[in-house]
Amino acid sequence: MTAVHPERSPKGGVEGRTSELLQLDLKHVWHPFTQHQSWPDDEPIIIERAEANWLIDTDGRRYLDGVSSLWCNVHGHQKRELDAAITAQLGQVAHSTMLGLANVPAIRLAAKLSALAPEGLTKVFYSDSGSTAVEVALKMAYQYQQLAGRPQKRKLAALVDAYHGDTLGSVSVGGMSLFHARFRDLVFPVVRVPVSLAAVERLFAEQAHELAAFIVEPLIQGAAGMLLQPPGWLKAVEALCRKHDVLLVCDEVATGFGRTGTMFAVEHESVKPDLLCVAKGLTGGYLPLAATLATQRIFEAFLGSAAEQKTFFHGHTYTGNPLACAVALASLELFEREQTLERMKPAIEALARGLEPIACLKNVAEVRRRGFMVGIELKGYVASDRTGFKVCKAARKHGVLLRPLGDVVVLMPPLSLTVEEARLLTRTVYECITSL
Ligand SMILES: *Cc1c(COP(=O)(O)O)cnc(C)c1O
Repeated sequence: MTAVHPERSPKGGVEGRTSELLQLDLKHVWHPFTQHQSWPDDEPIIIERAEANWLIDTDGRRYLDGVSSLWCNVHGHQKRELDAAITAQLGQVAHSTMLGLANVPAIRLAAKLSALAPEGLTKVFYSDSGSTAVEVALKMAYQYQQLAGRPQKRKLAALVDAYHGDTLGSVSVGGMSLFHARFRDLVFPVVRVPVSLAAVERLFAEQAHELAAFIVEPLIQGAAGMLLQPPGWLKAVEALCRKHDVLLVCDEVATGFGRTGTMFAVEHESVKPDLLCVAKGLTGGYLPLAATLATQRIFEAFLGSAAEQKTFFHGHTYTGNPLACAVALASLELFEREQTLERMKPAIEALARGLEPIACLKNVAEVRRRGFMVGIELKGYVASDRTGFKVCKAARKHGVLLRPLGDVVVLMPPLSLTVEEARLLTRTVYECITSL
């Protein structure tokens, strides 16, 4: 294969390379959550590089990364400090196992995470994705109740329309029928409850003696379409969990690391989870890494002699990967050095202001927002029209990349979004919705 150099190639040369890559993609790549019958007609974009909040395709076109590369980018792309952290760690070791060994960045990151997390979460268990962070939390909760002498507590409770990942355990607690219905026979039963305090109270009154844990996406259910919980709801759920010895598992895979305006969403209600799942933004969106944080009480229940078999038998090959931990540590340091949470406030303001006219459009049912997590629900369309997708596809022409959730247009920009970029984002979405 002879590479065509973009600068020197005659007109069409760059496109020649793009079309060659596209042919290879169509031939060999199976994309996640993608209907491949329509994929070739959806004019796929091939990303080659990025600068700050912008992605650049193989033809040199620039796009604002309006969904943080699927909700994970935090400080922008090609962030100097994050690039440097990976390079420095690469000069030491790229990977070494956590099974029977420790490594420097994993230790330092665990200490940093438990210092930043809500009080009481002293222990950090690493894995590789949001789904595995949830699997770990569920298995920990289930085993903990047995070790704590409450073997009757074997059921898990979760919310209607919950999303916790795509592996079978996380699908079991997930409640989105479009993704999950087909796998009904493969998943374990879960007690499901709507976001209503009366419903949760009833559930606890009837079944708390059998409940091991209640898993929630705190404050805002992301994949369900950015559904907001009423203020105080989570705090009341926490009290019920404490009263009935039900572990509260908070899945902050989407909400963690500043996305709602605070480091963790639970901080808005001073909630202290027993188990906390983090992933997406943990490495600033650079490398796959996840963690399940646990309280000292949970951790200590697993202590015992080898003969007692209280060990938590779970672990992934790349658990605590040094490169990923090094960049995560650098990302958390940036939050402090750059005062990220403080500095994002004007852009949150600009985003909120830009959304006001969108909320008034006749084909918009509702705009839901918490910090930098936004869902714009369209109305008057059927799912098969793929109207959410059409809005996002139109936005590309304005240099903005978005990905919808059905007919909910999602905005989830990097925390490094500028005020100017926030205006571009909302102006573009306004124009694309009005021109439907
Ligand atoms: C994305 C997401 C997950 C799954 O994370 P992956 O890294 O994609 O496995 C789990 N929970 C929530 C709330 C999420 O938004």
